[in-house]
Amino acid sequence: RKTIFSGIQPTGVPHLGNYLGALQQWVRLQNEASPDTTLIYSLVDLHAITIRQDPTQLRQWKKESFAMLLAIGLDPKRSIIFHQSDVSAHAELMWILSCGASTGYLGRMTQWKDKTASSSSGSGGNLKLGLFSYPVLQAADVLIHRATHVPVGHDQAQHLEFARQVANGFNETYGGDVLLPPETLISPAKRIMSLAEPKKKMSKSHANLKSRLLLTDSDDAIRGKIKAALTDSDASLSYDPGQRPGVSNLLDILFYSGEMIDFEDQVELAKHLEGHSIKALKEKVALTVINVVAPIRADFDRLLHDEAALEAAAHDGAEKARKSAQVTLESVKKAVGLF
Ligand code: ATP
Ligand code: MG
Repeated sequence: RKTIFSGIQPTGVPHLGNYLGALQQWVRLQNEASPDTTLIYSLVDLHAITIRQDPTQLRQWKKESFAMLLAIGLDPKRSIIFHQSDVSAHAELMWILSCGASTGYLGRMTQWKDKTASSSSGSGGNLKLGLFSYPVLQAADVLIHRATHVPVGHDQAQHLEFARQVANGFNETYGGDVLLPPETLISPAKRIMSLAEPKKKMSKSHANLKSRLLLTDSDDAIRGKIKAALTDSDASLSYDPGQRPGVSNLLDILFYSGEMIDFEDQVELAKHLEGHSIKALKEKVALTVINVVAPIRADFDRLLHDEAALEAAAHDGAEKARKSAQVTLESVKKAVGLF
């Protein structure tokens, strides 16, 4: 029997990178799952506050992110969809696991190194414990539900490896198979990069609004942002992420947003488009992205207006997630000697 678990932070409206790299796969897994597969998807708000959030803004983003998960096609009757902080077992297990987590290992995590290098909250001797222990909470998220498979984007592979080590370490220390080391399902789509700085990944929490294409963007906004995307001075088209990150990112977006069916890879796609100007490529990318985003945006707008239905779905999801988590928390507490 399979249990699929994954999460997304309510740190903003999900962008095209989130969709191509993660959310699209969540929906596909749901729609292709056999009846005995359990699917659990969480809005990980406890992770979101590892970076300082404005309370009013966070509440709004939580609501919008929940609506977005429904808008992309997750069905609350089939998948358990919930806000992480509604299920206290996540934080409880995190504490227990953190007592056995190595600080040396955590300090080598790429995301920690990136965020401490780039964010004001991280630098200048102002490093936060919550951000540092982020992977421990993430391990607790998947382990508390006995997930067998965790679909994530490439940037999260390292954290999942950590989760497996935590599970194995716990089992070795306390004996038995209390925790289940999960398998990572890496998304077929590679990282989508920022439109403004194509050597960095597209992120919800980056200050530059033009760096990301939101799943709520209007057709005009999509056209405008892609038109302004940073490329290079070479007028020809070629796929070379190392030397030509901007153009290659546009080809990636085109490939994963729909052209994937017709071409072997991005190199072949670039060959097919030979002779097109960068301007023409951008127009083509914009059209393709609009085709992906427009129906999602329409569903999102409709869903966001039905607050009662959203709240009922979140309430129902939390109840199911609490049940799923309780089983593991009890066996962990027993193993440790807490009861
Ligand atoms: P933040 O900047 O707040 O960390 P984020 O955009 O990185 O936001 P997350 O909530 O951290 O989004 O990640 C949600 C999922 O989206 C994860 O599975 C992650 O691997 C995937 N993901 C995030 N950014 C990208 C990207 N640029 N390309 C592909 N997948 C991505
Ligand atoms: Mg992230």
